[in-house]
Amino acid sequence: MRTLDTAELLNLWEEGLGQPRFFWSLDLLSALHPKLGEEDIANLSVGEKDARLLRARELFFGPDMIQIADCPQCQSRVEWSLNTKTLLDSNTNPPPPGKILELIQDGYRIRFRLPDCRDMALALTCPEDPARVLSRCILEMERDGKATDFESLPMEILEAVGQKMEETDSLADVRMPLSCPDCGREWECWFDIASYLWQEMNHWAERMIQCVHLLARNYGWSEKDILNMNPARRRLYLEMLTG
Ligand SMILES: [Zn+2]
Repeated sequence: MRTLDTAELLNLWEEGLGQPRFFWSLDLLSALHPKLGEEDIANLSVGEKDARLLRARELFFGPDMIQIADCPQCQSRVEWSLNTKTLLDSNTNPPPPGKILELIQDGYRIRFRLPDCRDMALALTCPEDPARVLSRCILEMERDGKATDFESLPMEILEAVGQKMEETDSLADVRMPLSCPDCGREWECWFDIASYLWQEMNHWAERMIQCVHLLARNYGWSEKDILNMNPARRRLYLEMLTG
């Protein structure tokens, strides 16, 4: 993974405005991993994509991540934290690309692969067909030794396939058990690293543009010169202006 300079990061942020977070996160990965082509990124499992985003987050902002959730019962704000290293360490056995999995249950034998970024992109662009990702990922299906089709698979089998996908690609679906200190309500909160990182990047970009504005106005430097400046030096100038 290569590092990105301030101007590159700001351009990436600008390209992400008005774009679904998922697609922005793929552009970010592409910039960070120039050796990965479009096809390579499309073939990443969702968990592998998120593992790379977690490493990117660590590179930009460090490992500790604070989240705020609203209690669904009393609307109190509940703060919780996650750590990129803990999440990455929990992914002890990441699945190799193209791994074929098998489920044998209730007379069914299903062979399937994990959803990848291409599947997720299709799901986002065609939300009217929620079963589409599963139908793309299920490669072979038999009932009592005879081939069957996707439409004939019962809901329990589809759910079992979905569960095995989540267990195998553990970073694809990160959930945090939460408890409200005010009313005692317990619930699970879903964590999406792409959305989290976008929010942080958005705040960072606003601060950076404010910094450019102040330095340009006071010293007459160009945006390019200010963005290319060593971050420590830029900060010192800014501190002198803002006290
Ligand atoms: Zn509550």
